[in-house]
Amino acid sequence: MSQPIPIAVVGVGKIARDQHLPAIAANPAFRLVAAVSRHGTVDGVPNFTDLHTFLATGPKAAIALCTPPSARLEMALAAIAAGRDLLIEKPPAATLGEIETITRAARIAGVTLFATWHSRFAAGVAPARDWLTGRSIEAVTITWKEDVRRWHPGQEWIWQPGGFGVFDPGINALSILTEILPGPMHVTAAALDVPANCATPIGVTLAMLGRDATPVHAVFDWRQEGPQTWEIAVETEGRTLHLRMGGAVLEIDGSAIPVPVEGEYPAIYRRFADLIATRQSDVDIAPLRICADAFLIGHQTATAPFHD
Ligand code: NAP
Repeated sequence: MSQPIPIAVVGVGKIARDQHLPAIAANPAFRLVAAVSRHGTVDGVPNFTDLHTFLATGPKAAIALCTPPSARLEMALAAIAAGRDLLIEKPPAATLGEIETITRAARIAGVTLFATWHSRFAAGVAPARDWLTGRSIEAVTITWKEDVRRWHPGQEWIWQPGGFGVFDPGINALSILTEILPGPMHVTAAALDVPANCATPIGVTLAMLGRDATPVHAVFDWRQEGPQTWEIAVETEGRTLHLRMGGAVLEIDGSAIPVPVEGEYPAIYRRFADLIATRQSDVDIAPLRICADAFLIGHQTATAPFHD
């Protein structure tokens, strides 16, 4: 077996701790050699507080960039300029222009760029895509409702420009939608509820049209306490497919379908190793484009101020 790929995690926050570090530790294709974060640290490896210092003086390693999207462009370009293979969290950048700039830089530098969409690796998504292939899809309904205080405690960046607000989880649903329903998709109407003290929405409703004018309706809401809802329902030829639990559970006509047991982030790192080995990149901006279009044509309504 070849030597493990040295890798550093940049931005030691919630998702780095919850998912990236355990997935790297469990994958023999990788070896964690450093962490880079202004405040967060990781035991057992050298820690750096500044990316440029790490790139200049630290071990040469691939990079998992786990910072918020608004902090991604400059860090991604620095990593690429240093010749590092790069995995980036979703959303891939704060704007479409930024991710195009990052993608071009990676292509010119000849590094692997993997813009991850973790929800596409949820266990039910690939079987759902395969089952839907070739069927005539009549309607899609997305319900993505969660409690922002539970999932983003104390995070200020989500409310600032480039922070996406409820599109931060909502884009996960859009990443599944664009995987199981490939082809053109455009927003026809959007309503964005924006707290009076914030720059980004806490609630969104979206109407879209997919390939062959398939109607898609989505509701994203960050104000749901109690049970959390991450569901997609697809009506096709008199039958109904449900993805529940963010894509982890697949049902067809109300019956559960067995799905693979691999978690999202272990699958992401397996794919990253394959991309590095074959010197390929994987970047899809379709989910980000839908968010951008919703911001462009959406009607914004000021709602109650948000306090954490
Ligand atoms: P987080 O807890 O705020 O962690 C991000 C870390 O990035 C911070 O702890 C911070 O560490 C560092 N950072 C560098 N520049 C920053 C800046 N300008 N503003 C804020 N932090 C900065 O956020 P997260 O929840 O891990 O989310 C990070 C990314 O992962 C987002 O793109 C998010 O969509 C994605 N994601 C999150 C989840 C989740 O459940 N939270 C799930 C899947 C994907 P230092 O202060 O130490 O530098």
